Amino acid sequence: MHKLAQLDRRYVWHPFTQMRDWLRREPIVIVSGQGAVLRDTHGREYLDANASVWTNLHGHNHPKINAAIRRQLKKIAHSSALGLANEPASLLAEKLVEAANQLNAERGMGSAEWLPARLPGIPRSAFRVPRLNKVFFSDDGSTAMEVALKLAHEFARRTGRGKKPRFLSLAGAYHGDTVGAVSLGHIDLFHKAYTGLLFKSDRVMSPYCYRCPFNRAKPERADARDYRRCNWECVGKVETKFAAQKKRGNPYAAMVVEPLIQGAAGMIPQPAGWLRHVAEIVRGNRAQLIADEVMTGFGRTGAPSTINDQPSTSLFACHQEGIQPDFLCLAKGLSGGYVPMAATLTTQEVFDAFLGEYEEFKTFFHGHSYTANQLGTAAALASLQILQSPASLRARERLEQTLREELKTVWSSPNVGDIRQVGLMVGVELVRDWRTREPFGLRERAGIRVCEAMARRGVLTRPVGNVVVLMPPYCTTPVQVRRIVEALRDALREVFGKFPRARHRASGPRTLA
Ligand SMILES: *Cc1c(COP(=O)(O)O)cnc(C)c1O
Repeated sequence: MHKLAQLDRRYVWHPFTQMRDWLRREPIVIVSGQGAVLRDTHGREYLDANASVWTNLHGHNHPKINAAIRRQLKKIAHSSALGLANEPASLLAEKLVEAANQLNAERGMGSAEWLPARLPGIPRSAFRVPRLNKVFFSDDGSTAMEVALKLAHEFARRTGRGKKPRFLSLAGAYHGDTVGAVSLGHIDLFHKAYTGLLFKSDRVMSPYCYRCPFNRAKPERADARDYRRCNWECVGKVETKFAAQKKRGNPYAAMVVEPLIQGAAGMIPQPAGWLRHVAEIVRGNRAQLIADEVMTGFGRTGAPSTINDQPSTSLFACHQEGIQPDFLCLAKGLSGGYVPMAATLTTQEVFDAFLGEYEEFKTFFHGHSYTANQLGTAAALASLQILQSPASLRARERLEQTLREELKTVWSSPNVGDIRQVGLMVGVELVRDWRTREPFGLRERAGIRVCEAMARRGVLTRPVGNVVVLMPPYCTTPVQVRRIVEALRDALREVFGKFPRARHRASGPRTLA
């Protein structure tokens, strides 16, 4: 075993890992990366098919981000945001605000009002499109959520919306691992252990078409959203929740959602229109909308998209449904996958609620040592610049298309129940039999076994439960996408046995690069 692997096994405790399983085998020790390829201590190469747990956007060792960090490093690596401002953080805040308000810009409305056709009788003011013009930097997705949570809590109290503000989020939701973020989440498996530490938040069903009890459609060989038969009961449930909470005399302060697709909940995509309906309910109840775009942000949900049938280059998932949240939480891809870095964007209105005389202590008492770190903000600036280049747009379109094409070949496995693609993200739900949707038991570790078989074929990703996630960096070439999907098909065959090969295309070249 390599010396570094030995040291890891002796000293390192890994996140979300049963360490007894970990200690049974030699870990892959990554020493370098280039584009979509990772290299280990034995010189073996792997395709990074989940973008290093959803963080990497443009590939590893990107010349432009490397150069931006080097340039910054010659000046300074870090100075505190407590009492001091700094160069790349100021510049990045401006760029983030620009990007976050693209929806308003594209509608040509600045911060003007926008009234959707539905829900008559609700005051027009409820539908204002908030302008996000303040950026609170922090370190990772959990803290971006923690900041939004604290701000929304305090904002609700200060504006007289409730003494004990309450939050609504989706079943299965994952918003991070700090105690506040865990309280907003609803993954019992992770969260049961911490019950005593958490505050109560409410959950409402998520629009999980493939396993929705209200979906009357028989299983087909297609994305369950495309053949669902229902009456939007999932939206009705949100409406009911809001009404019930109002009746209790303590209306919800905010609803927290991952727009377009829930990630760690199991790659659960929302049918088109769900977010728009839900946002209308939230606004109609004068609650705030917290968008957790930690995973979905920065072009992951596809580009270019359209907004109200107009072409758009927006980088954020909620904009694809024409929705502007009151809080936009960003992390993972913010620095291009280079440095831990997060931001919570919010409105002037929220900001103003924290203004006052020093001795009034209206200050937002929250912060982290590395907030607005120069290396992270410099990397993020470079990443944004790449994202906004025509070449990146083309690469993303091509990746989205290639994934869509290649994945058609995976339906022939009887153990694939649903293939859910949202832009450049894919969840492949494994089942015992697609005709019955019967799930695999936890002990069968179906998702883990398939991903292990993929790793033996030089493709790295992690499942969420029995859902295999594909989320490659944007620089992944069509040949590499073919290799990823081929590894998935071969892994399915290895783990579950043969399935008809008829519709498979010839395999692509063997090289990784
Ligand atoms: C990963 C993730 C988080 C937590 O981010 P960390 O950087 O791991 O703390 C929160 N929300 C969503 C949607 C995520 O995918």
